[in-house]
Amino acid sequence: MPEGDAVRRTADRLDRALAGQTLAHTDFRVPQLATTDLAGARVGHTATHGKHLLTRLATADGTRLTLHTHLKMEGSWAVGRTGSRWPKPAIDARVVLRTAHQVEAVGFLLGVVELIATADEGQVIGHLGPDLLGAWTPDHEATATARLTAAPDRPLGTALLDQTVVAGLGTIWVAESCFLHGVSPLSPVGDLRDPARFLARARQMLQLSMQHGRPVTTGNRRDPLWVYGRTRQPCRRCGTPLVAGNIGEPGRERTTYWCPSCQPVSTSA
Ligand SMILES: [Zn+2]
Repeated sequence: MPEGDAVRRTADRLDRALAGQTLAHTDFRVPQLATTDLAGARVGHTATHGKHLLTRLATADGTRLTLHTHLKMEGSWAVGRTGSRWPKPAIDARVVLRTAHQVEAVGFLLGVVELIATADEGQVIGHLGPDLLGAWTPDHEATATARLTAAPDRPLGTALLDQTVVAGLGTIWVAESCFLHGVSPLSPVGDLRDPARFLARARQMLQLSMQHGRPVTTGNRRDPLWVYGRTRQPCRRCGTPLVAGNIGEPGRERTTYWCPSCQPVSTSA
C-alpha cells in the first residue's frame, strides 16, 4: 500500500502534467461516473491529505469540483503523451484525463473515484487526523498527540496505521519509526515516551523520503530500511534476527517488523 510520501509524489506528477491545463477528453470507467464528461474543465492543483488525492477542477461554467481518488492497495496514476502505451492493461483503467496539449493521465485500479463539490472536501477528509506531510502547527501536533494517546492500551502500530489518528503513515513508516524510537509496534500506546517527539521524527522521515524519491530511513540508499521487510535478517544495530508480527484492526491486519532486542515488547498491557 502506498504511503503518504508516495501519494504526494503521485500528486506532484499529476500537477506537472495537468495543473493549469484544459481537459480535451475525459473517460470515467466507474459506474457512478460513467456518463460524466469534464471536457472543457480546467485542472488546478492536486492536493493530498494522507493517502487521499484531491484534484481540483473548474468547469467551463465556473463550477468548482474535486476529483477525489485513493490508491488503496493497488492503485496508481500514470502520466504520458496521449496515445503512448499504458503501463497497465486498459481493463484496469478507472479514469482517463487528456489535455488539449496531448498529455494524458490514467488512473489504474483506484480504490476510490468520486467527483464532489470542492466545498465538500471536508466530508471525505474531515475525519482524518492531521497530515504528517502537510502543515504542522502546534495545534496539529496537539490534535495528533491527543488522538494517538486516546486509547492507551491499543498497540502502538495499530494506532499509527489508523488514518483518523494521523494521516500518511503506512506499514513501512510504522515499522521504521518504531525502530528509531526503540519501541515495539506491539507495545501499548500508553508506554510510548514522548509521543509528540515520536510524531515529529516520523514526519522528518517522510520528508526525507520525499527528497530521496523513495523510503530511506537509514541514510544509506543501498540498505535503505532498518527493519521493514527484513524478517530473520540481522538487526543493523545489534545483529539480533528481526521478527515480524501483525498490527491493525481485526480483519485488516498488516505485517510489521521489529528487533526484539532494540525494541522489547512491553508487558505492562
Ligand atoms: Zn537490534
